Parts: sequence; C-alpha cells; structure tokens
Amino acid sequence: MKYIFGPVNSRRLGRSLGIDLFSGKTCNLNCIYCEVGATASPVHQRAVYTSTQAIIEEINTFCADPRRLDAVDVLTVTAKGEPTLHRGLGEILRHSKRMTDKPVVVLTNGTTLMYQDVRQELTAADIVIPSLDSARRESFLKIDRPVAGIDLQEVIDGLRVFSHEYQGKLWLEILLVQDVNDSDQDIEALVSVLRLMRLDRIQLNTVVRPPTESFALPVKSERLLEIAQLFHEELAIPVDLPFTPSDQAAQASRPDAMKTTHPLSADETLDAILQMLQRRPCTAADIDRTFQLGGPDKVEQLLETFVNSGVLQRQVHTNECYYQQSSTIQ
Ligand code: SF4
Repeated sequence: MKYIFGPVNSRRLGRSLGIDLFSGKTCNLNCIYCEVGATASPVHQRAVYTSTQAIIEEINTFCADPRRLDAVDVLTVTAKGEPTLHRGLGEILRHSKRMTDKPVVVLTNGTTLMYQDVRQELTAADIVIPSLDSARRESFLKIDRPVAGIDLQEVIDGLRVFSHEYQGKLWLEILLVQDVNDSDQDIEALVSVLRLMRLDRIQLNTVVRPPTESFALPVKSERLLEIAQLFHEELAIPVDLPFTPSDQAAQASRPDAMKTTHPLSADETLDAILQMLQRRPCTAADIDRTFQLGGPDKVEQLLETFVNSGVLQRQVHTNECYYQQSSTIQ
C-alpha cells in the first residue's frame, strides 16, 4: 500500500488507520518542529497533487478485508504535508464514509479554512483536528514559517468561521516550542481568539519526536501543565497534554483499548512498520505498542538489517532513540 499505513495507536483516537494523501512532502508551512523534514518547495494552491483514484482503490482494498478493518477504530486522513491542499479530499472523505461506518478524522494545519470549498469538503469528516500554534504574527512566522501569501488574521478568521459552521467534533491542536510561542503574551493572545470559536477540546502538544530544526525544544512539563490549566479555566473545555517518554510506562499499562492484536502476517507487519516510519519517527517501544512484537528488543532486532543497509536511521532525541526513514533526516 502506498497511501494507507498503520493502524497506529493514538492516545485519543484509538487504533488509527492513516490515509496519507501525498507520496512526497506537499505543504504550505515549514514548521520548525515538523517530523517529516523541511518543506523544500512550499505550495499554497489547492490542486490535484496525487491520484484520488489510487487512494480510493487502496481504501477499497483495505475495507474489503474484514480482518484488517476490524482492527481499526478510526480512519485518519493526514499527509506528508497539508491534506486540504489536495482537491480530491472531499471525494476521499465521502468515499471513506460510504465504505465503512468507522469515524473519519482529518488532521489539518488550518491554513486553508478561509476557503469555502475546503470547509464544505471537511463537512464529510466526523472529527477535524486543525492546528493553531500562535495568534501573534511574530511567533506564527517563527514557528510555522508559512509560504508567502498566508496571513495569520485570515487563518484565524477561517478557523473561527469553520468552528461555527462545522457540525462534527472539532479538536484544536496547539504545539508549543520553548521560547518561541510559549510566552505569557503568546498564551493570552491565543486565549482571546479561541474565546470566539466553538471548540470541543484542545490538544496541547510540544516537541516530542525529532524535529526539523534542532533548536525546536520541548516546553517543560510544568509549564505545559500551567498553560493547560489556564486554557481549561478560560475556555471551559477539556485540554489534553502530550505523552512524553516518561509517560510511556503509563501508556503501556493502559487497558485493552490501547492494545492491538495485530492481524498482519510477518511481511505485512514489516511493510506497515516501514510505511509508518516514512511518516513519523518512532521508538522501538512505540512500534512494539502498535504491532505487539514481543518487546522493544524484538523490534530492534527486526530493524537492525534496515539500519545496517541505510534504509533506516537511528536518531537520539530527548534521550530516546528514534527510528526513521533515512531520507527524512535533514
Ligand atoms: S508540521 Fe505539518 S503543517 Fe508543519 S510543515 Fe510539517 S507537514 Fe506541514
């Protein structure tokens, strides 16, 4: 499969089947914390960047296999880039809804919601998770490094309009980077624009996996907690905090909802792991949680050949060893 990957265990979504709309990075931002590497050629026009039919055929193949379909809780449309840039998004969402009754989720950087056609296409999704990392232009430019032509006020206005039009669940992701967008001034600015939106929850995040820029550092957990409490008090909605490596023991002991009896053969499992590592760096423990391979040691043994042959690389970040596809290392 070229576009479908996983399922991966997601804390909030459960077992999430990824549908990646692009084969190479296609984005209008160049975020300093991006996990898939720098945006070499930013684009901002909506266009047909990939074969919608090829993605639909993969969805059909997947959904025709009850063994695999039963092993997922949600379908998540994401991308090595920004999925709403692809003009076939609406068709893919509607087709996914026709093929399965599993909830369909879209992750978006939120920069195209000022366009009526994007908002209309997203109505087919059950959950939309847009991002807004800053409501201050100075911090927005520093952290998200948008392509020319993206105006922060238009992004905020688009998100506000969408939040009131959209009937599904809307979870806003905010990713904070130490000394870039985590000041009191940044948080106050976010609170004042978020008050005008209808949000179901906030997912507060920070840099956990190896970022594009080594200067993109995680915000300390005490500060994240303080900010989460402030959002919760000011906006009266649930605020999620990210898992950090020290939380992994807690995650591993979570009940069955987080566990996967993975239904794949050995070859399919290996292929699924490599597909996942094309999109995000993972530790051996991350991979084991998803694929139940008998412990991180077994994952390390399995991937050793790929590291030795140069297909994968290891990278140490915040004292954790991450595997990722070699081409994504900058
Ligand atoms: S984090 Fe998302 S929005 Fe930012 S550059 Fe990477 S793919 Fe694009």
